[in-house]
Amino acid sequence: MAEERDPRTIAAANGVASEEVFGAVAPPLYLSSTFAFAGFERNRSYEYSRTANPGRDLLADTLAKLEGGAGAVVTSSGMAAVDLVLSLAGSADLVIAPHDCYGGTYRLLSARRDKGQFDVIFVDQSDRAALAAALARKPKLVLIETPSNPLLRVVDIHQIAVCCKEVGARVAVDNTFLSPALQRPIGLGADFVVHSTTKYLNGHSDVVGGALIYGDAADAEPLHSWANITGVTGSPFDAYLTLRGLRTLYPRIERQQANAAAVASYLAAHPAVSAVYYPGLATHPGHAIACAQQMGFGAMLSFELAGGLEAVRRFVEAVRVFTLAESLGGVESLVAHPVTMTHAGMGEEARREAGIGDGLLRLSVGLEAEADLISDLKQALSAIPD
Ligand SMILES: *Cc1c(COP(=O)(O)O)cnc(C)c1O
Repeated sequence: MAEERDPRTIAAANGVASEEVFGAVAPPLYLSSTFAFAGFERNRSYEYSRTANPGRDLLADTLAKLEGGAGAVVTSSGMAAVDLVLSLAGSADLVIAPHDCYGGTYRLLSARRDKGQFDVIFVDQSDRAALAAALARKPKLVLIETPSNPLLRVVDIHQIAVCCKEVGARVAVDNTFLSPALQRPIGLGADFVVHSTTKYLNGHSDVVGGALIYGDAADAEPLHSWANITGVTGSPFDAYLTLRGLRTLYPRIERQQANAAAVASYLAAHPAVSAVYYPGLATHPGHAIACAQQMGFGAMLSFELAGGLEAVRRFVEAVRVFTLAESLGGVESLVAHPVTMTHAGMGEEARREAGIGDGLLRLSVGLEAEADLISDLKQALSAIPD
């Protein structure tokens, strides 16, 4: 066993200079779909890239180490990773998911339920009684997302995992919003971690990808096997780019969350802003849990404009440093309007129940200079008529 390295060292250097033929420092990209046999009935370690590919395996190994897992499957998208963990539930099984989960996850769970592939119930996991009632129905799998999208609600992973273990449920945490740099769910009792590597892990808004990390090596065979059967494994080129992005995960996220904290306190003091949702603010309802289970508060936040939809229109048309776009976790700052963009498909009533109003804006804070971000917000807020 190699000695335990600091995660910063693993992110920056796992697999560096391990290529033996030429001594390449950057691990090579093997685009080949197929690998030659050494002779009749003599296969080498790789045969076909849907099944396994050296560069993709290195990304999986790096992600598994960062999350403290036994291994990982790298998938073609975050949704493919969510679907892969759902393959553990059969037609007689129940899945529990957060009522405010990622929209794509909500759509996938509902669609699979409608096809009779399993049953699902959506619950507010911060409501202990509601969660206990759902767990009494002995679910096979419980999905957790914390902090949630777009209101950054925080739930206690360890406490939920303990309750799940009591009823024999497996626990999967979508760790996309924080990355292993700021939260390690397996150490808190989760069995699986799901990522949209599209977001912080790649970090440069130029790859769509995902990963499923498992804590127990006994889960490796069924998951790798199902990923190969269904062909949801990621492309070697995407894996190469994602590992390249992952090299700088720690410094990126540290700098981005410092910018986010500055943005959150600036917005909290502005008269045009009626609420700011950022777990780093002492006024945030999830602040205490976030302090205990996270290594930082992240670089995502949302806020409410008192002027509603008209104020939103003025604001998003005035921003120059922030870009109006979906997605998150890249080096560039983005602003999204959940009601008309990310959560448009959710339906008005479900949105109201989840607390997503017309004046809500979500920010993914990037790596730009703090002063430029603040002055952009300042000028865009001043474009809103009183
Ligand atoms: C983006 C996202 C996903 C889906 O990932 P894709 O890479 O877009 O398929 C899942 N969960 C969360 C929390 C996300 O932000």
